[in-house]
Amino acid sequence: MEVVSTTGELRTAVAAARRANKSVGLVPTMGALHEGHLSLVDASRAECAWTVVTIFVNPLQFAANEDLSNYPRPIGDDLAKLRLRGADLVFTPTDDEMYRIAHGTFVDVGVVARPLEGAFRPSHFRGVATIVLKLLNLASADRAYFGQKDFQQTLVVKRMVADLNVSVEIRVCPTVREADGLALSSRNAYLSPDERRQALAISRSLREAKAMVTGGERNAASVLVRMRAILAEAGITQIDYVVLADPETLENQSKISGPTLAAIAARIGSTRLIDNELIEPSPEP
Ligand code: AMP
Repeated sequence: MEVVSTTGELRTAVAAARRANKSVGLVPTMGALHEGHLSLVDASRAECAWTVVTIFVNPLQFAANEDLSNYPRPIGDDLAKLRLRGADLVFTPTDDEMYRIAHGTFVDVGVVARPLEGAFRPSHFRGVATIVLKLLNLASADRAYFGQKDFQQTLVVKRMVADLNVSVEIRVCPTVREADGLALSSRNAYLSPDERRQALAISRSLREAKAMVTGGERNAASVLVRMRAILAEAGITQIDYVVLADPETLENQSKISGPTLAAIAARIGSTRLIDNELIEPSPEP
């Protein structure tokens, strides 16, 4: 496994892979790698001859009051995991390498970036779209792999790729969870044992929404009341959103008539967690 940190080295390695007629898979991450990230590496290796993993804690997607400076950066462990998993190249640039002093171009994706995460983290998706486009350009990947865990991010990236005619296939892989349901996240490392127990209410609430909707409930308000009750019973009070939304437009649904995204963002202590479930309602009787 090769590890490089400059855009020039990355381009040289990509060009060599291309000359060898290898298809290229890109897995963008911010590091602190867990099985969720590694499942994306597996998916890329299954479909592409050459897999590039990027590890970059992108300052542009963090607001001033967020956890940029505390974000975990266990680079030695990350590289060991990627070596075991068979990544071909890891790109670990510095901030200066990615954003030179005069950097002045940003990607604003529009409506799909505005609700949910966009409403609570207004500059977040501008940062995400900008770095993802830069990485896609550098890696000239055939396919790029993202997790459903960050569902809105997958919509933002797909919209950008369609609008800007980027030649890449976007693959979305299922959310990897702990056995008890907690979605794997680098931010879980911030949770105390008590907070981790409390955080389980997020996936429990989403599972309950899925059970209600697949069981025939069509009234979103009834489902949302139950979802909020589960969070409240666990003592979760700092809730950014609990929604049932159209998975293409992210508009809130009042009557559930087709595929539905159940999504939650909440703070457990000082840790902000997000999770979601895609729900396919049972056919009308
Ligand atoms: P991050 O390092 O948080 O930026 O995540 C990098 C990629 O890994 C994104 O595409 C995430 O959606 C994906 N990812 C994060 N957590 C999970 C998970 N639990 N299951 C699947 N993919 C995940």
